[in-house]
Amino acid sequence: MSCQHCQELCVKYIIRTPDQLRKAIRVAKAALSDKTLSEIHTADNWNQYSFNECAEKMVWGDIVDYHFACNRCETQFVLGAETYHGSGGYWSPENEKPSSIIDH
Ligand SMILES: [Zn+2]
Repeated sequence: MSCQHCQELCVKYIIRTPDQLRKAIRVAKAALSDKTLSEIHTADNWNQYSFNECAEKMVWGDIVDYHFACNRCETQFVLGAETYHGSGGYWSPENEKPSSIIDH
């Protein structure tokens, strides 16, 4: 469940274009700067760039897989994309991943 701090972030946002990916990166970056979210590091790290580097330079690798958690309620969020296949990606609360993208 989300809390009032991360409520606005608790949306599924499907990413189909680099512009939409940039927008999602900016939103995540803003949430990190205002301390709503913290980045969490997972055992599988597919990213070619740290999220900071990604957000500052707007660069990303073939696989984008950043994870975040709300500092208050611990709701987790994922920013994921497969830019290589051009299949797009998503921003989503962890427990509501679009099912078509779960098994990659
Ligand atoms: Zn929250």
